[in-house]
Amino acid sequence: MSTMLESYAAGRWFRAADDGEPLLDAATGEEVARVSSRGLDVAAMVRHARRAGGPALRSLTFHERAAMLKALAKHLTAHKEELYALSVRTGATSRDTMVDVDGGIGTLFSYASRGVRELPNDTVVLDGGLERLGKGGTFVGRHVYASRPGVAVQINAFNFPVWGMLEKLAPAFLAGLPSIVKPASQTAYLTELTVRLIIESGILPEGTLQLLAGGAGTLLDELTVQDSVAFTGSAHTARILRRHPSVLDGGVVLGVEADSLNCSILGPDVRPEDPEFDLFVKGVVTEMTVKAGQKCTAIRRVLVPGTMAGRVVEALAARLAKVTVGDPRNPDVRMGALASLGQRDEVRKAVEALKANAEVVVGDPGGGALLDGDPERGAFMTPLVLRARPGAAEPHDVEPFGPVSTVLTYDDLESAIGLAARGKGSLVASVVTHDPQVARSVVLGLAPWHGRVLVLDRDDAKESTGHGSPLPVLVHGGPGRAGGGEELGGVRGVLRHMQRTAVQASPDLLTAVTGQWTTGAARAESDVHPFRKSLAELRIGDGISSVPRTVSLADIDHFAEFTGDTFYAHTDADAAARNPLFGGIVAHGYLVVSLAAGLFVDPAPGPVLANFGVDGLRFLTPVKAGDAIAVTLTVKQITPRVNADYGEVRWEAVVTNQDGQAVATYDVLTLVAKTWPATSAPSC
Ligand code: NAP
Repeated sequence: MSTMLESYAAGRWFRAADDGEPLLDAATGEEVARVSSRGLDVAAMVRHARRAGGPALRSLTFHERAAMLKALAKHLTAHKEELYALSVRTGATSRDTMVDVDGGIGTLFSYASRGVRELPNDTVVLDGGLERLGKGGTFVGRHVYASRPGVAVQINAFNFPVWGMLEKLAPAFLAGLPSIVKPASQTAYLTELTVRLIIESGILPEGTLQLLAGGAGTLLDELTVQDSVAFTGSAHTARILRRHPSVLDGGVVLGVEADSLNCSILGPDVRPEDPEFDLFVKGVVTEMTVKAGQKCTAIRRVLVPGTMAGRVVEALAARLAKVTVGDPRNPDVRMGALASLGQRDEVRKAVEALKANAEVVVGDPGGGALLDGDPERGAFMTPLVLRARPGAAEPHDVEPFGPVSTVLTYDDLESAIGLAARGKGSLVASVVTHDPQVARSVVLGLAPWHGRVLVLDRDDAKESTGHGSPLPVLVHGGPGRAGGGEELGGVRGVLRHMQRTAVQASPDLLTAVTGQWTTGAARAESDVHPFRKSLAELRIGDGISSVPRTVSLADIDHFAEFTGDTFYAHTDADAAARNPLFGGIVAHGYLVVSLAAGLFVDPAPGPVLANFGVDGLRFLTPVKAGDAIAVTLTVKQITPRVNADYGEVRWEAVVTNQDGQAVATYDVLTLVAKTWPATSAPSC
């Protein structure tokens, strides 16, 4: 029995009144579900996102949002089997589903962790350092990222119904933007199940995630200047979206991830007996067969030196002969079906176009043998390798979105880079080489044309995630034909959804705006040492100014002997005198920092639990024997941890000499108990 897919809109599940379009099992041709968005009030969805989802999300700090993403990742992990069971209907083998489902959940985990580690427990992000805009220090500037009061519309392709949604949702959610997700209709049933699981979990605030199952209708008409559209799909649809009035004139930000004719280059240094040769062949076969080649990052163009083409084709043929094709329910099948019969027709058409200047050298264009499955009802296609004639234009133009790659030959590195560039911009390229010079020349030649470049050799192969895997911590996207968009890349993906603004103000008001103490702002020193204050009592701007301490030659000698750092500038008066920067013995920078700690710490047990590092340490003026140094310490930022009894306190430390010159500046990073005496043993 088929099910009508539902949209999750304005806080309830919506079912279209018509019969919708049937969505067929990719391998059996049976109806899986029907889809329609007829009658769906998309304007109400946008209103709901703006009025309910956005405000709810922006009232949370980045750390609170990150905690929700982590809970969501755990919830979906607990329901993975349901997702796997349905995913098979898209034609995916369990290896394919792992890429989609586990890859999507992994992206949530990754953003949850980055959100806590790299974003503040606040709602505003600071970018770069403080800019002094006036001589007196009363007028300063700083860049901040703030959340937009808009909605993030995410339109996805059919090939990754789970990962495609989650990789867009996670950064937008962290950025404080509610999402309206529109999956490709063909595989929308798997996205619908994922959204259903998420909504049922109750983890996300209402209105932060809505689902549009079926055609987008007038959704884009509803968007305005604070909204964005992140699109993954064909260049054809991208063109339509780029011309939409909301994008052209309405200020809607459009990000595009489109077609890509990715290449893999076999380095000219690689001989058939080298490990890199096998790695190259294996990489091409993996990319041709995972998801039956329906990956935006798959290798479409195989670039090899002219002398190696025959050997490469032979090796590809041998490896591809072991790839069993058929119904993914059969555990012996290594490659499942394309998403639909229509999709298979598209790939066959693309192969015909390629054949204008290329011949099929591996595989049977007429069909090929299946391990099981009905080729009339299931969208099966066995892998095909073509070899292009010199000068062929089609491989740089036509994207066969299936298990098809074309071998092209190059003469030298320059011509290899030139061929790669003829793809007019791609998501990813790989070069397989063990030669450092080849690696450098090729990577620098490819970089302007690609969003990601993988250099593969015997040393990184074992740990390599491969040519085709976008990773949450690295950017995904590419210039030109690939759409010009950029997604993921860790926190970059979050900040891309926010507005960067240059704020100019006095130090006090900038402190108020940013939640971080600004040099020049008011400080508070009292009889109570700040190390005696718990997080509950500590305030931004609290500080201490130490008494001076004179640094003696005996201190420097002692430190050199004690630590073994007998560098001549600290121990050899004649050599130090000849040093153009010092002109005599100077104290070790680390001695200065150590003495400074001795000047500012309050030693008794108290709420300060640990010092976990320093940031931005700079030695600005040499310290010589007889100089008197003093330190001022100021609470710069307080970040309570969501799931612990303590938080992080960042202190600005400025060490000065007897003339008031700064000799060292840095931030001291400490962990401080939320209350003291602690009500319970600290835990995390
Ligand atoms: P598609 O036909 O362009 O569809 C992509 C999405 O756009 C679907 O959700 C589709 O919805 C929607 N859409 C179509 N027309 C629209 C319109 N006028 N307004 C708003 N939305 C509209 O692409 P596809 O066939 O699903 O995907 C295959 C292509 O995607 C390949 O070319 C591949 O290279 C590319 N791709 C790129 C990446 C990447 O990261 N760069 C990743 C995967 C795939 P319906 O399904 O309801 O029509």
